[in-house]
Amino acid sequence: MVQLWQNYSKNLRCNMKRRRCKIQKCECVVRYKTGEYAGLCNKHYLRKYKYGDTNVNKNPRDLTPFQRFIKHIKANKETRCWEWTRALDKGGYGIFNVNRKPVSAHRWSYEYFKGKIPKGLYVLHKCDNPKCIRPSHLFLGTNQDNTKDRHIKGRSASGEAVGTSLLTKSEVLMIRRIYKKGDCTQKSLANTFNVSRACIQAVVTRRNWQNV
Ligand SMILES: [Zn+2]
Ligand SMILES: [Zn+2]
Repeated sequence: MVQLWQNYSKNLRCNMKRRRCKIQKCECVVRYKTGEYAGLCNKHYLRKYKYGDTNVNKNPRDLTPFQRFIKHIKANKETRCWEWTRALDKGGYGIFNVNRKPVSAHRWSYEYFKGKIPKGLYVLHKCDNPKCIRPSHLFLGTNQDNTKDRHIKGRSASGEAVGTSLLTKSEVLMIRRIYKKGDCTQKSLANTFNVSRACIQAVVTRRNWQNV
């Protein structure tokens, strides 16, 4: 019995020893053992909870617009769309606040990733999902194109029109550009592009897509 108790307490101590924050050089005790925040201490849990990243230690107002933008996106595994998770306007398009002014999220996305939108042109969706802001799903057109487009495609064609490859050529270039700027981590890029972090790493270190 004594032996059992000794074993038990020894195991307990060992376990307790291990339950330190998984962040390097952090010696704090872990707050949650399971779930999304498993293995993080209180401080790192709060950072992840508030800012989505354990390295961030600042007010969201200090983030660049892009860093805020990328946090409001959720990848849809079925259609491979990146859907806006914040406010939507009447038409179902995402609203993004830049310098306290609301702009259309998909238009902002187009301008950031692909370039300026010429006057009088609209940013349309290949996937016919107004919430979507994935640059490869966006293209320029006139208002007429816009209404015609919706008519032909209907809601069903979304998956097909988009294709199934993990990343497109332009996205690879985009990932490299974003990463070089230092705007965000490989992890957040991976979340946004709905691929693994290893995939992002392979792209930025040119292990994959060497010809791009
Ligand atoms: Zn910690
Ligand atoms: Zn889409």
